[in-house]
Amino acid sequence: MTFTSPLTLTFVCMLIAMLIMIFVIISLLASKIKVKNGEASHYWTLGSLLSGTSLLFFYLQPEIRGALISMLVFGAYLLGHLLHWRGLQIFFSLPKSRYLWQLAGLTMLAFYAALDHENDYQLRMAAQLVVSMVVWSLCLWKWIEIRPKPFQFVTYLGLFGLSLMIVDVLTVLMTNYLYADISMANVGSREKIVVKEISGLIGLLIYMMVLIYCYFERYVEQMNYAAVHDDMTGLFNRRAILERGQREIEVSRRSNKPLAIALVDVDNFKKINDRYGHAVGDLVLKQLADVLQKTCRSVDLIGRYGGEEFCLILPGNHHGNIDAVADRIVKAIREHDYRPLPSVTISIGISVLSPVDQKQTWRSLVKQADRELYKVKQSGRDNYSTAAPETSKEEEWQLKDNENFSSKQSKLDASFFRSV
Ligand code: GH3
Ligand code: MG
Ligand code: MG
Repeated sequence: MTFTSPLTLTFVCMLIAMLIMIFVIISLLASKIKVKNGEASHYWTLGSLLSGTSLLFFYLQPEIRGALISMLVFGAYLLGHLLHWRGLQIFFSLPKSRYLWQLAGLTMLAFYAALDHENDYQLRMAAQLVVSMVVWSLCLWKWIEIRPKPFQFVTYLGLFGLSLMIVDVLTVLMTNYLYADISMANVGSREKIVVKEISGLIGLLIYMMVLIYCYFERYVEQMNYAAVHDDMTGLFNRRAILERGQREIEVSRRSNKPLAIALVDVDNFKKINDRYGHAVGDLVLKQLADVLQKTCRSVDLIGRYGGEEFCLILPGNHHGNIDAVADRIVKAIREHDYRPLPSVTISIGISVLSPVDQKQTWRSLVKQADRELYKVKQSGRDNYSTAAPETSKEEEWQLKDNENFSSKQSKLDASFFRSV
């Protein structure tokens, strides 16, 4: 053992033990908690273990055990870094650059193999440090690109961890040249470098904790998404559309704007299932959901209400324009090219909320729309029907709207005349 200070060795060992502990925990959790591209955590775990432990082994003089052992330690160190980078690529769906990295790895190994392991201590050290610097700089650059702006605390923490590792590498590189007498025999100089490497290990530990945070952040995002979305179509689920529908009714009343609710039901869908199978039926539903999304405006809310039933919340639509909207949707579904899947048609039942109407609730509106849907089904499908307006309420709203308009107009006129 070459360490003169047992304290330094203990500290480094403790850091390594912490790394191992964190990664054992994350591997166990990652096997139970699945996230998109979560396999990256295996790369990070193995990568950190390899580069973290080989960092310690560098100072246990692998060269005195022969060139092969020395090469193995360097190989593990290199592989650890490559795995780290690969994990980042996988987790954040960055474009692949596998061959470039394989080539870079092989070049480094060839370079390392060409060295005189007994005497080229400084060169070997420089090779190891350059690998670290390139990989961590690349991670830093990508990290800045990947994280959403403005940066959160955790992004700064990741930047800090990575910067710590880069600064550590630069310091050791410089020390390597300042202490030109570093050699296998010069244990004192090595000790100085080991002390500096501790900051690199701490940086790695911080960076790894940040990556683990990202893993769980994605898990929470996924859970939140799953809570309000339908798994198959990606539309809002029934509960979400119900909540949003009630909120939209309040907004409609407060902003004095009408609102339309449409219940969509696929025509004769059972026949499609019976003839082509349930799997084909599912694909048809997915395509239908896509067409609905493309046909509606971004302010419209679309949800899967039940099996082959959908619910649309169409803010701002009233009796004057809802027919054109409904006609466009029915036509879009009818005319869409589903090939090789079978084509489908839909029926729509619509109810309209007048903002002056204080009695209507989400339930009553849906009930009304359902009644209209039933009428369409009875009269041959592939069509829409809108609940008739309660004329008094409609007139009341139009009147109120006109009043609002004229009062705004008279205010404008007054201010105009004042300014003249
Ligand atoms: P109608 O025009 O009167 O609505 O006829 P229909 O056949 O569409 O109506 P019905 O209610 O008799 O059948 C609905 C069918 O939708 C039955 C059910 O198997 C199917 N279905 C419901 N959910 C799904 C789903 O998620 N995937 C598939 N493939 N089929 C579904
Ligand atoms: Mg149905
Ligand atoms: Mg149906």
